[in-house]
Amino acid sequence: MGAGARVWQEGGMSEEVCRARMPAWADVFNDEMIDFWSGEVLWDQEMARFTTYGVGGRAEAIIFPSGIKELAQLLKGIKRLNIPCRVIGSGSNLLVADQGLPGITLILGKNFAAIELIDEVADKVYVKVEAGCSLGRLLNWCQDQGLSGLEFAAGIPGTVGGALVMNAGVAGWEISQVVTSITVMDENGDYGVKDVAEFHYRYRSWGDQPGGLAVEGVFALQRDDKTAIKERCQALLAKRKARQPKEANCGSFFQNPAQGKTAGQLIEEAGLKGVAVGGAMVSREHANFLVNTGAATAQDLLMLMQLVQNKVKERFGVFLEPEVKMLGFGDKS
Ligand SMILES: Cc1cc2nc3c(=O)[nH]c(=O)nc-3n(C[C@H](O)[C@H](O)[C@H](O)COP(=O)(O)OP(=O)(O)OC[C@H]3O[C@@H](n4cnc5c(N)ncnc54)[C@H](O)[C@@H]3O)c2cc1C
Repeated sequence: MGAGARVWQEGGMSEEVCRARMPAWADVFNDEMIDFWSGEVLWDQEMARFTTYGVGGRAEAIIFPSGIKELAQLLKGIKRLNIPCRVIGSGSNLLVADQGLPGITLILGKNFAAIELIDEVADKVYVKVEAGCSLGRLLNWCQDQGLSGLEFAAGIPGTVGGALVMNAGVAGWEISQVVTSITVMDENGDYGVKDVAEFHYRYRSWGDQPGGLAVEGVFALQRDDKTAIKERCQALLAKRKARQPKEANCGSFFQNPAQGKTAGQLIEEAGLKGVAVGGAMVSREHANFLVNTGAATAQDLLMLMQLVQNKVKERFGVFLEPEVKMLGFGDKS
């Protein structure tokens, strides 16, 4: 056994129980980390707990680093040991396979949730936010400070990291219009600040370059009346509540095609509202939401996705690209 027992901390579980839950690579990984680690490791976790869909098999390990230096060393170690690894936010745009996830699933979470006002120049107020901060908490903070610019994101679940990578947005507004720079870490643990112009932001994506892991972003906001900001957020929240399905979902499942009808219109006109595969169903409220009616598997959702893609292609000649990110379905993820 390696010296890595220190990282087995899981709610008071005995070493024996933890051992039974650990994957084959755990000892060598623990040895690699023992000198610097103070974060948290959860072995053998149901991914359903970490996604809004509430589906997905077991992840071999979920890791919460305690800070940026530790994260950098962790990534170096993971690369050296060639352990599969990916980062997730709050899982609000994820479909995780029933087979689960090998290797390490990183969550920045509450250890990367700081918000700091860093500068004020003319009418711009610059705010630095770590990637693990939830958009909801950031919006509440903005309301308290009287800072405007992010109200469009009211009701979008997820973390700042997820929003930066997904270019989260709604109705003509996207996070890329408000962010000025992002600190990005690569797989070697090297990190630096990049101007937003270095990214290839497009609809629901920060592009393929420079890629990597988003650690924090700087947003350019404006001072405004606190009550007015609050009212704008509340109006958007009410609109969402009225339009979005109650069942577990990941928001819009498909990207809207660049031209013509929206994905929701195409799916509805193809007569697919209410169509189900197992526990997965095309929402009756909003056709671009594929919902988990309670007992869906990831396979049900995948098959429903393919059914919708085939029917829409047959009827309109349009291929609907998923907006949801798939993990564990046999690709590099
Ligand atoms: C009810 C509901 C409504 C929604 N409405 C909207 C909407 O109006 N507009 C919209 O754009 N989206 C919407 N979404 C989708 C989702 O909330 C967004 O895409 C959100 O930005 C995802 O953030 P997350 O933290 O949950 O990321 P996750 O779902 O955990 O991850 C999404 C992707 O980002 C990557 N990622 C996450 N964090 C990092 C990081 N720090 N560094 C590098 N990569 C990272 C993951 O690997 C994955 O590829 C909705 C979802 C739900 C459930």
